[in-house]
Amino acid sequence: MRIWDCHSHCRGDEKGDDVLRAMDQAGITRINLFAPYPRPRDGVFYREDVRASIDHVAQVQAADPDRIFGLVWAEPRAPGMVEEIEYGIVERGLRGVKMIPDHWSAGDEMLFPIYEKMRALGKPIQFHSGILYGFGDSSQYCRPVLYEALVHFPGLKFSLAHVGWPWIDECIAVFGRFRAAAGYKLERCQMWIDTCRGTPDAWREEALRKAIPFCTMERVMFGVDGHPASLPEYGREHIQKDLALLRNVIGVSQEQIETFFWGACERFYAE
Ligand SMILES: [Zn+2]
Repeated sequence: MRIWDCHSHCRGDEKGDDVLRAMDQAGITRINLFAPYPRPRDGVFYREDVRASIDHVAQVQAADPDRIFGLVWAEPRAPGMVEEIEYGIVERGLRGVKMIPDHWSAGDEMLFPIYEKMRALGKPIQFHSGILYGFGDSSQYCRPVLYEALVHFPGLKFSLAHVGWPWIDECIAVFGRFRAAAGYKLERCQMWIDTCRGTPDAWREEALRKAIPFCTMERVMFGVDGHPASLPEYGREHIQKDLALLRNVIGVSQEQIETFFWGACERFYAE
């Protein structure tokens, strides 16, 4: 069975061949790999750091662009971010954008040029949502309902990670909001759920039991939230846990399982 890990982080030192080997060991066919975070220096973001982050993930992706989908890490406070997104996607062939709110939120006007650019490019944004263990006290900026602002950008595809944990119900309700905005036509709904870890085991069953029937499996994507070197152990563990949960506990069909591990993300990235 093909497995597409929709959520993985570069650390900045990985080599493409090592990433492919780690994926093979974990049984992962394809991966969405986020560029390393272009960390601020003394509180300032530099365009050259954003460029280096993009060039790094593009070089990793070049090892096998069919298996490694590189994403730009977009930080709206970095100078020239919109142009760097264009560079990453158009010139380097990256597939989308990753964002984590750091004391800004999805409805802030400074993000609108990024949304317009992504909509024009026809590429998706993968957002963090839910409690945030980095970036100081920024969790309040990551509440799922704050992403409702994207309703003003119809046609822009996005995903919310971690099923918004601990705000799982809120995340799923936001999906309902976007489905309604699309006139209840699922194929026009902008939102996908990225179920990468964040939901601890004790909440996992509840999260999937709620998300799958409400959002449909076509919109619920599998993800690990590791980094490439962690995949042989950590990735494999979460593939097996989710597979057992879906097959033996929740009891969904093999076809649905394949949609979870592959088809949902394939639709997210379909042109
Ligand atoms: Zn992550």
